Amino acid sequence: MNTPSPHLPPSLPHLSRNTLPAEKENTYFVFVVLVSVLLWMALIMTIIGAVYGLVIALFVWLGHGLLAAHLRAEAVRVNERQLPALHATFLTVCQQLGVSQPPGLYVLQSGGALNAFATRFAGRDFVVVFSDMLEALGPSSPEIKFILGHELGHLKSKHILKQTLLAPGLFCPLIGPAYRRAWETTCDRYGAFAAQDMDGSLRAMLTLSGGKDQGRLLDAEAFASQHEEERGFFVSLHELSSSYPTLSRRVRDLRALQTGQTAPRPPRNPFAYFFALFIPGGNLGGGGGAANGLIIVVVVGLLAAMAIPAFQKVREASQLKVCLNNERMLSAAFDQAVLENGKPPTSVAELVGPGKYIKQMPVCLNGGTYVIPRGATSGEEIFCTVHGTMENIQRKFNPAAVRH
Ligand SMILES: [Zn+2]
Ligand SMILES: [Zn+2]
Repeated sequence: MNTPSPHLPPSLPHLSRNTLPAEKENTYFVFVVLVSVLLWMALIMTIIGAVYGLVIALFVWLGHGLLAAHLRAEAVRVNERQLPALHATFLTVCQQLGVSQPPGLYVLQSGGALNAFATRFAGRDFVVVFSDMLEALGPSSPEIKFILGHELGHLKSKHILKQTLLAPGLFCPLIGPAYRRAWETTCDRYGAFAAQDMDGSLRAMLTLSGGKDQGRLLDAEAFASQHEEERGFFVSLHELSSSYPTLSRRVRDLRALQTGQTAPRPPRNPFAYFFALFIPGGNLGGGGGAANGLIIVVVVGLLAAMAIPAFQKVREASQLKVCLNNERMLSAAFDQAVLENGKPPTSVAELVGPGKYIKQMPVCLNGGTYVIPRGATSGEEIFCTVHGTMENIQRKFNPAAVRH
């Protein structure tokens, strides 16, 4: 049997519209901006990176457009005639949070998932609530106010824009996920402030944790204590690499919010920080699946844009080296032929073949053929039709050395 939660006052005296963003969100923001600016600059300065960047931007734009189209065509747009009770609740929440132009609210059938997300396309904001979430919480409850307030928090904090502009920084291990977790903490504060009801806010979180029937019956204190009790290496690593605070922690933070105190921070396993360095940020299992998938595509593309030119350089260098060695071999054969015959050979065919100086024709990896120029007196004059003479190739390896 469950003991009902003690009655809590309906309003939150410690919170006002101005104190909703979590403090550490601003701290992490500075770091993520710094990393992102550096990575964007590196990308733009390499021309090939800029080209990749444009192609990726085009795909992100297309993906977002399709997501927005999916919502507009398949999801139910909430208004006075469609789900009017939810519409009225949404307007109340917008007013409470000082949102003067309410974004489009949509209800989307999503195979039983209890979730909601916010997104933005072509200057239009969207809040999306999955239909099972709406069924679990009802259209007018403080619980649904919490959820709507949370998503409006993402829009008010410009998280969708930041997700794109700061993609490189968000991909960084440790700092990226930490910054995203701060977003969620901020938005839970928006949700609680929108609901003006701690019991309801907690029940919304418990529904996310325990499901639509049994979740609301859970004991918030017991669930919150899981956060203090489960502190091993893997739980720490999970926390550090994930872009959401754990559900038990979010319940604990909401309970602390009610009293205006900061909850004590149970320690993490120090080794987990080291291993978390190797787990890049991203947003797996979060709200807007399609948008998040695109962000991952962007980041992989950025890395590819940086890696591919480097890889090509290495490959080109090894091809040059093979050709240089071929020319050295032919040059030595040329000089030997001069010694033996008393006159320089006039074609490579005189040097290569069974019983001659070189058994098989050396192969240039870029399809060049080797030529002895008319009137050549030294093996150094032999050239490749693609790469030129030995001197040409050596100059490519070390341009400065030849000038002196
Ligand atoms: Zn969120
Ligand atoms: Zn060659």
